[in-house]
This record gives sequence, structure tokens and C-alpha cells, in this order.
Amino acid sequence: MDLLKNKILEVGVVISKDVIKLDSILNHQVDPQLTLEMGKVFATRFREAAVDKVMTIESSGIPIAFATALELGVPLVFARRKKTLTTDDDAWSERVPSFTKGIVTDIMVSKAYLREGERVLIIDDFIANGDAARGLIRVIRRAGAEIAAVGIAVEKTFQSGGRSIREEGIHVESLVKIASMENGNIIFE
Ligand code: 5GP
Repeated sequence: MDLLKNKILEVGVVISKDVIKLDSILNHQVDPQLTLEMGKVFATRFREAAVDKVMTIESSGIPIAFATALELGVPLVFARRKKTLTTDDDAWSERVPSFTKGIVTDIMVSKAYLREGERVLIIDDFIANGDAARGLIRVIRRAGAEIAAVGIAVEKTFQSGGRSIREEGIHVESLVKIASMENGNIIFE
């Protein structure tokens, strides 16, 4: 998606060879027009995937997931981050390492909003090691629902997340793939 690539080159701040800040469009301030365009592209790519709902993890995935759900005409459910993993009979919980925070957080999805047999499209802003996506995949499978596909705005292909989820046979689409950020230079694939 050239629009997103150009924005990344314009506003992205590479803070290490592994992490890029996109705070002015995705992770703090949100660019509504760009976000709606991302939703349209995802909807085009997943139109045939028979999606029943879109799912993401709070917070930065929510605007893109919302835009995608709007285009597909389905609900959006975002997994909440909880402080402690207490047993909750009405919710599915999973422990997920956080790439940017360097800590483990617990995510939670109410059983009321994830039903057996539903086909779920996972949307997120970035994929690095794939822990966030895999946490959602575990939740979806435990509920007896199906993973329709995974859509990621920015995939860093020098990290293993996207590859490892594709190797499981899950359809993963990225709007932009970054192959390297060595020496502060963003190289797209
Ligand atoms: P993963 O679980 O795949 O290792 O990391 C994905 C999550 O970490 C995303 O939801 C995103 O919030 C965050 N993340 C991973 N890499 C980056 C990055 O380079 N920049 C920013 N801003 N967030 C990232």
C-alpha cells in the first residue's frame, strides 16, 4: 500500500533496528483518512473470506480494525488487556508477551462476543514476533471459532511473527512489509 509506505517514510521514527514509532498516525495520534483507506484495502483483500467479525487487541489496533469492520459490515471485538489473569468463567483469557513494553499482559475476551463457529478476521497495527496475534488465535480456537485470516498494517519481515503464523497454514496479509531498519534506514520488501 503505497500511501502507507509514503507516510511511514515521512513520519516514521526508527528508534532501534527493531522498533519504529508511528505515533503521529497509528500509535498515539490517529490519521483518520489513512486509517479508513487501510480498512478499505483490508476489506478488499478479505471480502471472500466469509468474515463474521473482526478482532484486535486494545489499543493501537482498534482504529484500523474498526475501519475494516465498517467496510466489511461486521462487528469489531477488541480483546481487553487485564492487570491479572484471574479465573473468569464468562471470558477467555490468555497471557501475551508485549513486544514494545517488554512485559507480559493478559488479554480477555468475553464469551458473549465470541461464539463457536464464527469466522474471525484478526487485524493489528504491527507484527513482530507474533505473540499478540498468537494470543488472539488461541482465544479464538478455545472458543471453537475459526480464524478467517490475519491482516497486519506493518509487518517487519526480519522478525519471525508473520512467517511462523503463515507456516501454521493461516492466511496473513500485510499492507506494508519492512525488510530492514538497520542504521535508521527503512527498507521495504
Ligand atoms: P508481536 O506480538 O508480534 O511481537 O508484536 C506486536 C505488537 O507489538 C503490536 O500490537 C504492536 O502494538 C507492538 N509492536 C511491535 N513492533 C512494533 C514497532 O516496531 N513499533 C510499534 N509502535 N509497535 C510495535
